[in-house]
Amino acid sequence: MLADYHVHTEFSNDSIYPMEEVIKDAISLGIKDICFTDHVDYGPYRDWDDPRGIQYRPGDEGEPERVALTNVDYKKYFSMIEKMRGKYREKIAIKAGLEFGVQTHTIPEYEKLFRSYPFDFIILSIHQAGDQEFWTNEYQSGRTQQEYNEGYYKELLSVVQNYHNYSVLGHMDLIVRYDSYGVYPFEKLKPLLTEILKTVIADGKGIEVNTSNHRYGLSDMTPSRDILKLYKELGGTIITIGSDSHKKEHLGAYIDWAKEELRKLGYTQFCTFEKMQPIFHEL
Ligand SMILES: [Zn+2]
Ligand SMILES: [Zn+2]
Repeated sequence: MLADYHVHTEFSNDSIYPMEEVIKDAISLGIKDICFTDHVDYGPYRDWDDPRGIQYRPGDEGEPERVALTNVDYKKYFSMIEKMRGKYREKIAIKAGLEFGVQTHTIPEYEKLFRSYPFDFIILSIHQAGDQEFWTNEYQSGRTQQEYNEGYYKELLSVVQNYHNYSVLGHMDLIVRYDSYGVYPFEKLKPLLTEILKTVIADGKGIEVNTSNHRYGLSDMTPSRDILKLYKELGGTIITIGSDSHKKEHLGAYIDWAKEELRKLGYTQFCTFEKMQPIFHEL
């Protein structure tokens, strides 16, 4: 069963891919279950109804002239998902999710948001720490490789110890994507990774395999095979697979490859989600 559980649309500030186009393309790729996971990043980004107003940046090529630095317009998003479910229910299962870019200090805002809408699935990602972005190297600059690697995982640990309304960790070793010194050794991070994964497993949560490693030119999987082996050794079973798609050529890409790699690592099942509950499928 082909499913893509990490998909962005025009509701994310970094995509202009219309939701209905994503659905049509997914159907033609043979995807049977799709979960939309557009971005929410409290801290750097505001909600549409934020009393402080909306910030904008000029659009890049292929984008509108002004790009609003906002989180998902939740009301429009959920009503669009409802409409799409009605229209395409014979062809594809459509799930409502979001990708929460949580930081320890923004947890209360996510608690409130989670209570406000009917979610099937939440990806918990660490995109920033102390409101500093990883993808722009803002966090890394002025820190040693050890400091920013440990800083990333310490923030992740703090978040999973204090926040529980999520399904899986997104791209768990994201920092690898934005590490100009190369991959920091797994063995040095193993104690921290073990503590994080034990917390996730004890909490009944999982991790995702994010197939964007291909377009970022990473030789290992995301997360790395070492992390996937450790998760399995510690008793982890909940795994979703997502392309982290922002445009047509990303959608559904390398999902079959990820299944094959997971089988090689000894896994036999992957998950889809409904109403925040995992459903297991054979790989
Ligand atoms: Zn992400
Ligand atoms: Zn994403």
